[in-house]
Amino acid sequence: MARIVVIGGGIGGLTSGMLLARDGHDVAVLERDGAPPPESPDEAWNGWERRGVNQFRMIHLFAPRFRALLESELPDVVAEAEALGAIRYNPMRLVPEEMIAGYRDTDDEYTMVSARRPVMESALARACANTPRLEVRRGVTVSELLTAGEPTNGVPHVVGVRTDAGEELRADLVVDAAGRRSSLPAMLTTIGARAPEEELEDSGFMYYGRHFRSADGTIPPLMCGILMPWGTVSTLTLPCDNGTWGLGIIASAKDATMRGLKDVDTWMRTWRSFPLVAHWAEGEPLDDDVAIMAKIEDRHRTFVVDGSPVATGVLAVADSWACTNPSLGRGASIGFMHAVALRDLLRVASIDFPMELAQRWHEVTEATVEPYYRATLDFDRHRLAEIDAGIEGKAYDPGDPQYEIAQALQSAAGKDPEVFRAFLKVAAVLACPEEVLAEPGIFDKVVELGAGWREEPVFAPTREELLAIVAG
Ligand SMILES: Cc1cc2nc3c(=O)[nH]c(=O)nc-3n(C[C@H](O)[C@H](O)[C@H](O)COP(=O)(O)OP(=O)(O)OC[C@H]3O[C@@H](n4cnc5c(N)ncnc54)[C@H](O)[C@@H]3O)c2cc1C
Repeated sequence: MARIVVIGGGIGGLTSGMLLARDGHDVAVLERDGAPPPESPDEAWNGWERRGVNQFRMIHLFAPRFRALLESELPDVVAEAEALGAIRYNPMRLVPEEMIAGYRDTDDEYTMVSARRPVMESALARACANTPRLEVRRGVTVSELLTAGEPTNGVPHVVGVRTDAGEELRADLVVDAAGRRSSLPAMLTTIGARAPEEELEDSGFMYYGRHFRSADGTIPPLMCGILMPWGTVSTLTLPCDNGTWGLGIIASAKDATMRGLKDVDTWMRTWRSFPLVAHWAEGEPLDDDVAIMAKIEDRHRTFVVDGSPVATGVLAVADSWACTNPSLGRGASIGFMHAVALRDLLRVASIDFPMELAQRWHEVTEATVEPYYRATLDFDRHRLAEIDAGIEGKAYDPGDPQYEIAQALQSAAGKDPEVFRAFLKVAAVLACPEEVLAEPGIFDKVVELGAGWREEPVFAPTREELLAIVAG
């Protein structure tokens, strides 16, 4: 079994660390932020200092895929999360019976285990503390990669890391889980490696989020989708732990008027103008302000360039490999899938053949998580272009059959129980759109029932009304 160093103790680092240690490896997770997870959910929410994760207190949804992976791979995390107040939430239990032709046992796959991000991360950290062969060291920043020997055909081999305090940790494998702002490319350049290929663009979205709590521990009723496009903005209504929930308004970063949503009164007034979600703002706010996040990048890194790895002995997982605009709430699930894929690869591929291992990691990444990344990117690009067209008062008509079918799928979901399940499967990160559309009968129903998606009523203010509401 191998000695493995994981850089970063966020969701990807903690899940990777546990999966690898429970498979028999000796694992050290090195996390830059020094603070340990607090005891209670409210302390985690109010006081856990996690400067290394910009989005730490932003609204998060842990999709059904995340719950499914927890239950199959790390079931004690579910127990820890529920002990901290996480809830089980299944939209299939909340929609009218006739929409889904009755609840079926198989609909359990749409269940989420929901909690605020700091609470879910606390649960992961607690489970890590009970994992033999796993050490999570907080307050340790990795600043360099260590190499040994001459590079093979210009490809350096990594044998460990150096921390900013000068400590050297040797490892058979280094796993980079340092998140969307990982400095792995810079560290690779420093050891003489070629740069990974990077696709980078500003996703173009801005997030305006708030969290609330109910007096009686309940979550507001769901009257529409969790993510809803309303013309030039979208809303997110995300159930969390202990009678809390997160709400988000997503706008285009180009939409200068929407920047007024930074102001709490403006945010509240605007939220209440969307009739199907207005009631979600009736709880007690957890914070006095609006949490804002801009400059959210879509980033994708390829570490095999021109057929050969840029370095061996180091592999990237989760956001360090790729991250997108998070409106679909997929990052944690995709990162967890990636971590499972790494654990599985190390069961069959030898660390003693680092060139092959790097090559196979690239292939496994392309086969397992790449399709979800690409599908997310496609959705985001269309949604942003649609919003930007709406701002200019134009209809969005890209002439892209994939966009048409995605819109039709959403529209048809409300009209047929099987299409509803197919739609939810995509939202739940259980399948990619092309997979559900290939299921018997689904494509034909989507085309038939979803054809009129452009004519569907939108229960939201018009653009002009929205501008007036934001302006006050
Ligand atoms: C606004 C926003 C909202 C989101 N909402 C959702 C959502 O609803 N659902 C969802 O599934 N996903 C969501 N995501 C995505 C999700 O947060 C990420 O996919 C997830 O956190 C990725 O985990 P990670 O471990 O790769 O990175 P992170 O969780 O960012 O962790 C990286 C860790 O590495 C540490 N680190 C960095 N450099 C070093 C170093 N040199 N040495 C040591 N430690 C280091 C950092 O301190 C940090 O703790 C959202 C993202 C954003 C930006």
